[in-house]
Amino acid sequence: MPSTAPRTSNDILARGLRVLGAGIREQKAIFAVAVAGGALFGGMTVASAFVLGGVTTRTILPAFAAGRTTAGALAGAALAILGVALVKVVGIVGRRVGAGTMQYRLQASYRRRITRQYLTLPLSWHQRHPTGTLLSNANADVESTWYPIAPLPFACGAVVMLGITVVALVRTDPALSVVGLVVFPAVFTLNFVYSRRMSPRMTHAQQLRAEVSGVAHESFDGALVVKTLGREQEETDRFRRQAVELRDAMVRVGRLRGTFDPMMEALPTFGTLAVLLVGTMRLRSGAATVGDLVSVAYLFTVLALPVRAIGWVLGDLPRAVVGWDRVQRVLRASGGQAYGDRVLPARSEPARLSVDQVTFGYAEGAPPVLIGVGFDVAPGSTVAVVGPTGSGKSTLVTLLVRLVDPQSGSVLLDGADLRELSRGGVSDHTAIVSQATFLFDDTVRGNVTLGADMSDEQVWRALAVAQADRFVRALPDGLATRVGERGTSLSGGQRQRIALARALARRPRLLVLDDATSSVDPAVEAAILRGLRSADLHATVVVVAYRRSTIALADEVVFLERGRVLGRGSHQDLLATTPGYARLVLAYEEAEQERRRNRAALAAGGRGRAGKPPAKAAAKAGEPDGGADADGAAEGAA
Ligand code: ADP
Ligand code: MG
Repeated sequence: MPSTAPRTSNDILARGLRVLGAGIREQKAIFAVAVAGGALFGGMTVASAFVLGGVTTRTILPAFAAGRTTAGALAGAALAILGVALVKVVGIVGRRVGAGTMQYRLQASYRRRITRQYLTLPLSWHQRHPTGTLLSNANADVESTWYPIAPLPFACGAVVMLGITVVALVRTDPALSVVGLVVFPAVFTLNFVYSRRMSPRMTHAQQLRAEVSGVAHESFDGALVVKTLGREQEETDRFRRQAVELRDAMVRVGRLRGTFDPMMEALPTFGTLAVLLVGTMRLRSGAATVGDLVSVAYLFTVLALPVRAIGWVLGDLPRAVVGWDRVQRVLRASGGQAYGDRVLPARSEPARLSVDQVTFGYAEGAPPVLIGVGFDVAPGSTVAVVGPTGSGKSTLVTLLVRLVDPQSGSVLLDGADLRELSRGGVSDHTAIVSQATFLFDDTVRGNVTLGADMSDEQVWRALAVAQADRFVRALPDGLATRVGERGTSLSGGQRQRIALARALARRPRLLVLDDATSSVDPAVEAAILRGLRSADLHATVVVVAYRRSTIALADEVVFLERGRVLGRGSHQDLLATTPGYARLVLAYEEAEQERRRNRAALAAGGRGRAGKPPAKAAAKAGEPDGGADADGAAEGAA
């Protein structure tokens, strides 16, 4: 570690050194190798200067004096220079291999730790952290944390070298050493000033670079919106503003570098000139020899680079501290879910689900989203959760599969609190399908199996229950058809059915559908629910539903409003006893009919507008977005 670092009171410097210390502690052995290499290099660099001085004294000067020399003397001189150079090479190799290995090992290790942490952190944490941040934490931040590791052994070697040099200079000639004692600190100070002034500019530029790519990313992602609403010019302007800012920032970086670089190159050169000047005077007075002068002058020319390595380390420290802090924020994030050690026996029959007095809020102090919610679902039965938008339905279903934990109350699967189950114990028995389906840029088969070992027959069975087998069979390559990025080559309803098949293929004992068939035609949706009961993939089902036809298929309905259960029972009972429920279902019904009328008008070539907004009543009641597929309707009817 550069012990010459000045002003330990400097916060960034102290914290930066602590970061380096943490890295060194993790990679002690390889760091030792790298530093040994660096020290060897430093020592040999100084040695090479004195070998050159010695060769001058013993071989070159006598040769000039005698007017001739011997092959043996020349060979001896060459061997001495070569020998030192070879040892130096060993040092360089050790240092570079060591530093590289250390840097990449640390990066790999921290990337792994971060991604592992992402996997353990609960959904609630992920909801607060955008994808872009997760990516930069795992990549750019880890990289910048270990940036100064690469030049660190070099810098350590430079410190060793400076120490030897100063001692050697004083012993050679005190007068010459004065030049060194002026020039080295000057190079060092200049470096330090440079690093301090450079790093905020660099950090700023780094930030801007992330922003530029963020803007580009968003524009490409929203290409459809940009194009359809004619926002190309605005997007271009937005991008230009960011790009110009980045350009200016980089120009400022370049200006600073342009000013400092020549100074940094010039200082040791002036040092050499000063050595020659002082040296010739000392020669004349007989206080120094030509050999001494050659050694010292050479030293000055080779010392400049290693001394700059110290500057590289110092210059990268602020970035390392910022990166380290961001990485630690993830690694120290609490809210990781604790797991018990209970394992539910592997069974194929449907699970029993109990929700007991569950209260949940997204943030501390914020009003709870679910208040004392409780209901039981008998094995193999279907419960529909019905409620207006924002009543807490999606929140409730995430609790059922333990994506989040309740603040009070509990969710029990076959009588076991989800929190007592071992890691992976919940997902072994449950599956959730949400409205926002995500398909990978893979084949239909790959999207259903997600890499699990399944036979084609199993895949087809799941597709059949999800009412997706017919359209998959009609695809050009059947199961092997690629669906494109996010499944763009499929319709919304088709994507939803493949996502459903994905859940079914895992043979969950509890299947949770959060508005997962909203883009599927009602007839197909009903066929799916009926199929779930008769198929061998029989599961206990909790379904967030809107359509009367779907709700009517449920054994029981849980009516949720503002986070409370306002009614439970059969659809008919609730219609009679709970006015809010009746109003809501009626509003959905009207919206559904309106949509059907529109589609009929469209099919008849009438004036029905595509993408007509949903009926007013439904908008108020909270109609889910997205119309059903026409293809689904055709299949359902078939
Ligand atoms: P529903 O699915 O019934 O429409 P949600 O469960 O999605 O309702 O939302 C219930 C309430 O919780 C809403 O008021 C919503 O604003 C809030 N909410 C949902 N998700 C989050 C979140 N990630 N962070 C904070 N509040 C949320
Ligand atoms: Mg919802």
